[in-house]
Amino acid sequence: MRYLIVSDLHANWEALEAVLADARSRFDRVICCGDLVGYGADPNAVVEWVRANCHLVVRGNHDKACTTQEDLDWFNPVARAGALWTVQNLSKENANYVRELPKGPAFVDSLEILHGSPWDEDDYVAGAEEASEAFGYLESRLAFFGHTHLQGGFIWNHARIETIPPVSSRHGRYSIKIDPGCGYLINPGSVGQPRDGDPRAAYAVYEASGQAKVFYHRVRYDVAAAQRKIYEAGLPAYLAERLGAGR
Ligand code: ZN
Repeated sequence: MRYLIVSDLHANWEALEAVLADARSRFDRVICCGDLVGYGADPNAVVEWVRANCHLVVRGNHDKACTTQEDLDWFNPVARAGALWTVQNLSKENANYVRELPKGPAFVDSLEILHGSPWDEDDYVAGAEEASEAFGYLESRLAFFGHTHLQGGFIWNHARIETIPPVSSRHGRYSIKIDPGCGYLINPGSVGQPRDGDPRAAYAVYEASGQAKVFYHRVRYDVAAAQRKIYEAGLPAYLAERLGAGR
């Protein structure tokens, strides 16, 4: 079984389209670590694709905020403006779907799927210290998460935590072998709003058969088209500008 792992799509249809074209026939099932909506200008197209194609989805903090309007006070003004715009523009059916997404962790085969940390979808696992704590909560040796918009993740090898870097800016992909004796927190990176300084859309493919491997990928997409839609929607200009910088 081969899994396409996507996270933090953030209503960016151009980025999702490029990921799907790049991954083509290299996967059997799709898993999504949350944040379908918020920030971008195409929430309905992205949610409809997720509804039709994802085998398992957990909700992200933006999915919760954009459909329940809970926790909006914790958002910065730009994120709040994005969430309120999404509330007004998401179709009723898509809003119902997003509102009812399960809170992680969720499980499929021997994989654990979460958005933020194992104990809270709003918490960030961004450094080795947080990862060390998170490994203590995981029920599976192989977990996929998002929320930080930073591709990579962490390996627990009994003695210490190793940090997995993102795909370098000069390459399109690389892979790591999965050692069943170690623990893994894998972040595929963000499809729709990367923040690791590389504006290319990020995703991962997990191959479970034979020597299990995770492939990290980056792919260029039509950033200008996604930016134009954000400007035309009247969303904060910063949400368009940051796509160009990948920050
Ligand atoms: Zn996000």
